[in-house]
Amino acid sequence: MRMPKFEYHAPETLDAALQLLAEKGAGAHLLAGGTDLVVKMNHGMLKPKAVIDLKGIPDLNTIEVDPQKGLTIGATALLAEVAAHPDILRDYPAVAYAANKTANVQIRNMGTVAGNLCNAAPSADNAPTLVAMGGEAVLVGPKGERRFPLDQFFKGPGQTAMEPGEIMTAIHVPTPPPGAGISYQHISARGKVDISAVCVGVMVTMDGNVCREAAIVLGAVAPIPLRARKAEGVLRGKEWSAELAREAAAAAEAEARPITDVRASAEYRKQMVAVLTRRALEEARARAAKR
Ligand SMILES: Cc1cc2nc3c(=O)[nH]c(=O)nc-3n(C[C@H](O)[C@H](O)[C@H](O)COP(=O)(O)OP(=O)(O)OC[C@H]3O[C@@H](n4cnc5c(N)ncnc54)[C@H](O)[C@@H]3O)c2cc1C
Repeated sequence: MRMPKFEYHAPETLDAALQLLAEKGAGAHLLAGGTDLVVKMNHGMLKPKAVIDLKGIPDLNTIEVDPQKGLTIGATALLAEVAAHPDILRDYPAVAYAANKTANVQIRNMGTVAGNLCNAAPSADNAPTLVAMGGEAVLVGPKGERRFPLDQFFKGPGQTAMEPGEIMTAIHVPTPPPGAGISYQHISARGKVDISAVCVGVMVTMDGNVCREAAIVLGAVAPIPLRARKAEGVLRGKEWSAELAREAAAAAEAEARPITDVRASAEYRKQMVAVLTRRALEEARARAAKR
């Protein structure tokens, strides 16, 4: 299929990108790595009048790890850069792991974490961990800058809380509290190259052997990355045990609302939610014990 003609813009500043977005209106689409956008254009699913490439804007690719402020991932920082960043590997291993489990090496060398979130696929590999950690989207638009909780960012497949004219400039993750442990688990039918059939991000905050706080986020089993709030409630304030983790995993399975598609049946997905949630909880608990 031949791609319809479109204008291509490569602004050199954020202000210029915002101005272009305002001028071109709904027919304009932002481009980071293009690994979702260009595929959709190739398949005729999207016919933008204008494409605004963000990659030439300096500073948008910055990655910062600050012991007090937390982790900031710029909008054009590549998945490969996040996966291999020494400070992220040291302080946020689950974030690096999720980026490293996204697609294959070619895609990770083009695609971005921000693009993964803005594309808003229910299976987006980077969403569960970032939501579980209390991450925020840094959004800049005609009304200025705002920080928006990733917990409420996803509105449905391909839909987010971003307003027309807004650009995500970064993702910010606060420094995890003392006693916190984080894990990301996923499964896909064709191993490394396939999109997750189920994925789970977990953060538990331990006080000795008692679970003070828990966030469990399920991917690819609902129209958006889904907080398993009943499962979180099972853990909160309780003495940790293998049985407790199994109980929470069963509660997460009950909360999942998967569909059957080419990647997996709904029944398989449900069962994998229990398996992956239990694994994620045990890994997060073990990591919490080391902090
Ligand atoms: C072969 C293949 C395998 C893949 N495997 C996986 C996988 O295993 N797991 C997975 O989760 N995904 C996978 N993907 C999907 C894709 O690679 C990821 O979602 C990637 O992170 C998208 O990032 P990008 O920078 O390429 O986004 P783009 O394609 O540039 O953009 C995606 C969407 O987000 C918007 N956007 C981008 N940046 C911004 C911004 N800063 N502000 C506002 N809107 C923005 C764009 O307008 C577009 O709508 C795969 C894709 C391919 C082609």
